[in-house]
Amino acid sequence: MRVKTLLISLCGLGRHVVLESWTLWHRGGRPCLEVTVRHRARRRARCGQCGAISPGYDQGGGLRRWRHIDVGFATCELVAAAPRVDCPTHGPIVAEHAWARHDSAFTRAFEDVVVHHAIVANKQAAADRYGISWRAVNNACVRVAEEALGRVDLLDGLVAIAIDEVKYKKGHKYLTVVCDHFTGQVIWAAKGRSKATVGLFFDALGDRAADLGFVTADGAEWIRLVVADRAPDAVVCIDTFHVVSWATDAVDQVRRVEWNTLRDAGAADAAKEFKGLRWVLLRNWENLRGNQKTVIRSLEQANRRMFRAWQLKEELRDIFALPLLAARRAIDDWLAWASRSKLAPFVKLARTIRHYRTSIEATIEWQLTNGIAESNNASIARIRTNARGFHDPEAFITMIMLDRANLGPDLPWATAS
Ligand SMILES: [Zn+2]
Repeated sequence: MRVKTLLISLCGLGRHVVLESWTLWHRGGRPCLEVTVRHRARRRARCGQCGAISPGYDQGGGLRRWRHIDVGFATCELVAAAPRVDCPTHGPIVAEHAWARHDSAFTRAFEDVVVHHAIVANKQAAADRYGISWRAVNNACVRVAEEALGRVDLLDGLVAIAIDEVKYKKGHKYLTVVCDHFTGQVIWAAKGRSKATVGLFFDALGDRAADLGFVTADGAEWIRLVVADRAPDAVVCIDTFHVVSWATDAVDQVRRVEWNTLRDAGAADAAKEFKGLRWVLLRNWENLRGNQKTVIRSLEQANRRMFRAWQLKEELRDIFALPLLAARRAIDDWLAWASRSKLAPFVKLARTIRHYRTSIEATIEWQLTNGIAESNNASIARIRTNARGFHDPEAFITMIMLDRANLGPDLPWATAS
């Protein structure tokens, strides 16, 4: 086999690219394989930015080089002429190269591998691995994400979506994230959590908002008010996870009151024991071990108020597993019981549940919960942790879209022609 044939294969050059020459030299200990290439002569020149077939303009800045995928111990660079064309839209501009994205010092294949690494690990790990700067990795991520977003319309054909918020930085810095219930993917994200932010999503969605059948969200009014306004026909479901978390919060409030009462009454030991109850009280009954269940059962004698609070929480959880008609009756019973429970946090919770009752019933009827958003949130938290936080919300959004909207690049050899 000729070396040239070998190099064409090793560099994944494909049939539209001609290898003209190659040379190997050393730079700081590591060999560098320099491969001079050109497009096949019959390929028509296109604008580097928009891809429109355009007449030639001039030779531009002469030869350019692009970092390519490493070959063994050697780094590799492609070298080629970079003539300019006269694009009807963009004027004189560097012509498109088959092997690289516009305005990048990297080949497409190298960039895809770098971005792949940044997604599965983080940008700094990718920068270290390939010996390039963090900023270069970041720019590559932005280019890849923008290109992918230009190819697919993530807002097309939506029927059921989940809207949620995600923290990106300490000090109440949030993103609003929208997921598609059917694909489980993130389809939109933007900085902020406000009516204005949700409004931006509906601006992007346009007329297609009329096709939305279901929207799930937590109890946040800033989401619900905008949805009611912009997608009035959509059924709004409330996330069961949030409703149950309201109930566990109420249990915890009761526990704190009871603990303080015991302590003020001078029952120090009982108070101490009570403090340790917290995790047992808040966990789901089916997740408790035998001795923990015994603790709960003994509460019925030891502290009836606490036991009642715990029962109210568990009973509310059970409602979400019932069929709709049974659930409706169970909600009536629950509201009546909670309202006269003489436990202030549950009296208040009963008012909240009444407020969201339509949404709660819709959730039970359609079995749509924000679980998909919650699982995406867990993944988004992992992205944030891997990156050790994000200062720039846009950089965070780029990584969320690459990873959770499935916009990440295929490895180059998966698509090589
Ligand atoms: Zn153009």
